[in-house]
Amino acid sequence: MPKELPSHAKVAIIGGGVVGCATAYHLTKLGVKDVVLLERRNLTCGTTWAAAGLVVILRGTPEMVRMTRHGYELYRELENESEQPTGFIQTGTINIATTEHRKHELELLESLAESFGVVNLPISMEELQARWPLINTEDVLSAYYMPNDAVVNPVDTTMSMVAGARKGGAKIFEDTEVLDFELKNGQVVGMKTSRGDLKCESIVLCAGMWSRELGRKLGISVPIHACRHMHFITLPMEGTYRGMPILRDQDGSLYFREEVGGLLIGAFEYGALPYETKEIPTDWYFKELPNDMEHFEPLMQNALKRVPALETAQIRHFTNTAESFTPDNMYIMGEAPGMKKLYTACGMNSSGVLCGAGVGKKIAEWIVHGYPKSGHIWEADIRRCFSWMMNTNWLKDRAPETPGNLYGIHFPFKQWETGRNVRTSALHGRLAERGACFGQLFGWERANWFAPEGVEPGYEYSFHRQNWFKYSAAEHMAVREGVGIYDLSSMANLVMEGRDALPVLQKICGNDIDAPIGKVVYTQMLNERGGIEADITVTRLKEEKFFIVTAGATAVRDFDYIERAIPDGAHAFLLDVSSAYAMLGIMGPNSRQLLEKVTDADLSTQSFPFATAKEIHVGYATPLAMRMSFVGELGWELYVPTDFAPGMFDVLMAAGEDLDVKLVGLHAVDSLRLERGFRHWPSDIDPDSTPLEAGLRFAVKFDKGDFRGKDALLKQKNEGLKRKLIMFTVDDPEPLIYHDEPIYRNSEMVSSNTHGAYGHLLRASLGMCYLKNPDGISDEWIMRGRYEIGISGRRYPITIHLTAPYDPKGKRARM
Ligand SMILES: Cc1cc2nc3c(=O)[nH]c(=O)nc-3n(C[C@H](O)[C@H](O)[C@H](O)COP(=O)(O)OP(=O)(O)OC[C@H]3O[C@@H](n4cnc5c(N)ncnc54)[C@H](O)[C@@H]3O)c2cc1C
Repeated sequence: MPKELPSHAKVAIIGGGVVGCATAYHLTKLGVKDVVLLERRNLTCGTTWAAAGLVVILRGTPEMVRMTRHGYELYRELENESEQPTGFIQTGTINIATTEHRKHELELLESLAESFGVVNLPISMEELQARWPLINTEDVLSAYYMPNDAVVNPVDTTMSMVAGARKGGAKIFEDTEVLDFELKNGQVVGMKTSRGDLKCESIVLCAGMWSRELGRKLGISVPIHACRHMHFITLPMEGTYRGMPILRDQDGSLYFREEVGGLLIGAFEYGALPYETKEIPTDWYFKELPNDMEHFEPLMQNALKRVPALETAQIRHFTNTAESFTPDNMYIMGEAPGMKKLYTACGMNSSGVLCGAGVGKKIAEWIVHGYPKSGHIWEADIRRCFSWMMNTNWLKDRAPETPGNLYGIHFPFKQWETGRNVRTSALHGRLAERGACFGQLFGWERANWFAPEGVEPGYEYSFHRQNWFKYSAAEHMAVREGVGIYDLSSMANLVMEGRDALPVLQKICGNDIDAPIGKVVYTQMLNERGGIEADITVTRLKEEKFFIVTAGATAVRDFDYIERAIPDGAHAFLLDVSSAYAMLGIMGPNSRQLLEKVTDADLSTQSFPFATAKEIHVGYATPLAMRMSFVGELGWELYVPTDFAPGMFDVLMAAGEDLDVKLVGLHAVDSLRLERGFRHWPSDIDPDSTPLEAGLRFAVKFDKGDFRGKDALLKQKNEGLKRKLIMFTVDDPEPLIYHDEPIYRNSEMVSSNTHGAYGHLLRASLGMCYLKNPDGISDEWIMRGRYEIGISGRRYPITIHLTAPYDPKGKRARM
């Protein structure tokens, strides 16, 4: 180890766990030699040393799978390169089901795995018993085998990456604690460490459980809470063998792997024990916590049931330590909003070993290329973290639900149970009184559906039509045929003002923002590759004042994207005013009739055309009314100061009585928008797809002057598209679809569903997918194919639609 800390590093990495070491390794692979890694005590002494070393590739999203697959492939080959062993053994994984719901979930996973390129096939009870001789199969309903998973030794694997990083030029310093930071113009330019000061150009925060408090020092949101996490290892047992598959009995919250002839048994349980809410001790060094046998007892009972031979086995070691968990079970990675060149890679939710290499690779790409070149990773992006999420009361309540959630049944629409009622709209109480069943999104409680009188507004989860299906269908039809009202106060509202506001927006938006006052412009914010960074509306309120509406989930991200585009010294000021406004959507063919009862404004198409906005009076409130619709019907979005929202709501509901107005939840909004073919960021459109590919050519104005991504889009336009987003309906009205189901063209898997819902007017499940043809994609080529979708291992014919299958003018003419 070098003794002298250099005075400067191009990239400084804080933390010598698997993630920090993987980041150093991948930076050197991308040619960045001037990398300094700082570890407070010893490499791997945080959480990495304790990991069970499971490398299970299948995850919930395609990009997560790409990251785990990278880890699997790297760990398999690493030893050859670094000459340090990793303990890699290809074992495969067996998942078993002991409940009907789990059985159904495993069936769905078969197709999902196929769409991610992961082999995951059902096996018979005989095969299960042969591969796993110690198992009790008495209550096992089904089993699936994924042959391409592995186990590794986490410490050896980390040290192997360290060896590779060192070979590539990285300098690793143990016994070096980062104590403080030097900030200049929104950038960390240096650090104070226990070994001296270090100037640096970029920083990567890979400090595991310690990242939250370091983040607090830096003024960024890194919402992590540690929970106790444990496993035990037995002495050698008859019936185990080297290369024995990992066994996951998720109904029992357990996993098993072979370890030196014995078994290693670990758990992902609901109600995990939170650890140290204020600060994790800084003298932590391969630390083991006292055994929580009382907590582990029910899990031990499950283990004994699954492997009766454990009754007589001797426990070699019980490991109880702590690991970082995040509020949504996803990592926290990427460039921190509001800061330049400060990256995070932490919050690993007990999968830092299997994903560490993939995370390190992405972070290295982010630093070198300015974005994660191998694919965007919004689900784990730090820009989804709001500042309020650093509230430790909330984190302490929520984090213990995360481990259990990992092995819980992933029902569609499943809601978190802890840490609720963080953000409620001004209408929350009124909606609750009227039967709202709320779901939580980024802290916001949103009415997902409304229970009629006498029905409990709660979810009864299943993989079939859930209890709310028929109520949501009625809400859907009210918007199609009459009038519905929904509360979308969770939408984020930004105000951009100043002499340079217009040029900044023109630079990053594909559409022409230089529109008359009162015009609402639907646009995408683009990157240099023409990819879609955001999907927003921009309304010109005054010559130099713009009102921007985006999704609540992307408020931090979109704010950051715009803010970074404001040149130093420019006269452009951006403000997040989301909490100041409530938003009510009044939608449906009778929406004009309803609004006319409560306003003196002229709502005719001549004086209030589509995509325009003006203040109107509704009762005693004066909302900004926008004639826009995300549900594909005549309608107005009313943006009203929150304190006026309840009064305005009452007036609208009273006026709507004789029009049979219906309150509408977010599940219906989703099915409505999908029938009309409206795209949603990030499921249907994202930074790696362009407006031309996504069928949003109408929102790109090539003749407006220069804008970000213009050259890339012009090139794509001139060369002709090779990829296109299309819609489809499933011919059989029975099956439901959600996301990532495989799509086949002429029997070959070619794509996957971006997002699915049931269209209650069309009476079919519908979704979208990107079709690709390297020789150029044409409508004729698309329609020439025969298409199917894979659901639970079965294929169902689908019908492709080149335009939205529902159009309010032609109704369902295109079906
Ligand atoms: C019982 C158990 C079983 C697990 N099993 C698996 C498994 O099978 N598969 C899997 O993928 N994952 C597993 N995990 C999870 C895995 O161990 C973690 O996700 C992973 O190790 C996290 O790595 P990290 O680099 O983010 O954090 P850490 O390993 O904690 O590294 C962070 C480092 O930062 C250092 N640091 C902190 N503050 C500073 C500072 N100010 N200055 C300098 N250095 C600092 C710390 O000393 C520490 O070494 C398991 C975890 C546990 C507890």
